[in-house]
Amino acid sequence: MGKIVAANWKMNLRRESARALAAALAAQGRRCWLFPAHVLLPVTAQAVQGSSLKLGAQDLSPSEDGAFTGDVSGEMLADAGCELVLVGHSERRHGHGEDDALLLRKLQRAMAAGLKPLLCVGETAAQRSAGQAREVVAGQLIVLEKLETARRRGLCAVAYEPVWAIGTGANATAAQVQEMHRHARAVLETLGLGALPVLYGGSVNPANAGELLACPAVDGLLVGGAGLKLDSLSAIDDAALKA
Ligand code: PEP
Repeated sequence: MGKIVAANWKMNLRRESARALAAALAAQGRRCWLFPAHVLLPVTAQAVQGSSLKLGAQDLSPSEDGAFTGDVSGEMLADAGCELVLVGHSERRHGHGEDDALLLRKLQRAMAAGLKPLLCVGETAAQRSAGQAREVVAGQLIVLEKLETARRRGLCAVAYEPVWAIGTGANATAAQVQEMHRHARAVLETLGLGALPVLYGGSVNPANAGELLACPAVDGLLVGGAGLKLDSLSAIDDAALKA
């Protein structure tokens, strides 16, 4: 069956490079989840049509359609062919100051629009040094308590992404990942979400993917930089298929 591989393309690629990458992955019969920038959704949606790839957006508005200049609603994303949406990526939490109250509104809007959110959580380097990693991650997950049980089950996954490992080339060790995933799973169990996949993200590449995927508590990977090239994403997905 294999484990999940999700690629967050962030603010990268253009229509032709996104189309070509998605089309090549589709031709290889991959089942990855792709998260292109909003403007690249139509071309990527076309490329993944009829394939086993899933399409998602990187963010959504906490509001319904209306006077919200620059925002994109969940309904618009669903209309563009998205099934999934990232919520709470560290570049939104820390780069854009998005707090748990705002993220809860985004989760609610995503579900109302029929999208399946992938909630990202993770501690900063300072929080880890202060011994607060477990508490921070539990706090970010406990937000889900405010969603009705049926709604919570609409999530597609949670991603543990320590902020200090994202885009730094310094991935968390397998031991750190295993410990934090076990902890996240225990919190999710208290929310009735014990079966929800927990992905790891943070400087994953073809060289470290196998070791990270070998952790029993890792259900898959969320990949940033290494998800932008066919060779590296395919190699990571091959490792996930074997895991
Ligand atoms: C990410 O943005 O979710 C991520 C994990 O990035 P990278 O793989 O580049 O560290």
